[in-house]
Order: sequence, then C-alpha cells, then structure tokens
Amino acid sequence: MSLCLRCGLCCDGALFGTASVTAEEAARLEGRVALTPDRRNLVQPCRALSGCACTVYEDRPATCRAFKCEVLAALEHGEVTEAEALAEVERALSLRRVIAKSLGMSDERAALREARRRLQADELPDDVRDTVTELNRFALAIQLVRPRR
Ligand code: SF4
Ligand code: SF4
Repeated sequence: MSLCLRCGLCCDGALFGTASVTAEEAARLEGRVALTPDRRNLVQPCRALSGCACTVYEDRPATCRAFKCEVLAALEHGEVTEAEALAEVERALSLRRVIAKSLGMSDERAALREARRRLQADELPDDVRDTVTELNRFALAIQLVRPRR
C-alpha cells in the first residue's frame, strides 16, 4: 500500500489549514470540497478525504497534485526505505493519538486543532504541550519544499 494511503496528514488539517484552488477548480469541485468564502481555497480537513484516500483524486486541484512532503520525496529519491518512511508517518500519527487521548477526545483531527488552540493560549499541561510541539515541528519539517535536481 502506498505511503500516502497510510497517512493523509497533508489533507486532514495536520499540516495545512487550506489549499489554494483556481476559480475553475472551485467550480469543478463545488459540493465535493468545502471552500473558503472567497472560493480561493479549499478548507482542511478536506471534505473529500475518506480515511486517507482522496475521493476526488482525478479532479483534485493542481496544488494537491504538486504537493509532495519531505518524507515522500525522500522515499522517492531512495534516501529512506519504505519502512523508514512509514515509521516517520506512524510516529506523527501516534503523537496525534496521544494528544487526543490526553484531551479525552475521540476525534483525533479535532483534538489536534484544539490542542494547537490551547498551545497558543498557553493552556496546555507540560506533557501535552511537549507532544504538540513535537508534532508541530515534524509538520513544519515535512512541509519543506526541496529544490528540483
Ligand atoms: S504527501 Fe506526505 S503528508 Fe501527504 S499523505 Fe503523502 S506521506 Fe502523508
Ligand atoms: S482534494 Fe484530495 S488531495 Fe486535495 S486536500 Fe482534498 S483530499 Fe487531499
């Protein structure tokens, strides 16, 4: 199974809050994704995400087509094995599970949003704050766009 189908972090709100769309894409995806009021972005967690799969895959916006996280890029460049890439993703997913458990929430994606809100407000106990900070660092690191070679 592909790495992305075990992950979904770039669609489910863990890495991004929105993804830009053109006017044509907004019209094409009307009703299948949630759009910002100005219709220039789709909102994440993306409504088109089912589990870790994109249900509008053939119609997905150019932004989604172009994005490749650092873990996937490293895998495709042969810099890490599939097992190592999967372990990276699993680590992030497990941090989110821990955060949800700490907050007593069953919806892990909502729990991460709430934890980030509380982090900003300095309302998190130390252990949860450290976990959220670690996940935020991971999220930032894998968003890096590496130069073409
Ligand atoms: S591109 Fe990266 S963050 Fe997005 S689903 Fe694939 S492995 Fe996960
Ligand atoms: S349209 Fe598909 S690829 Fe793009 S954010 Fe939504 S689920 Fe992910």
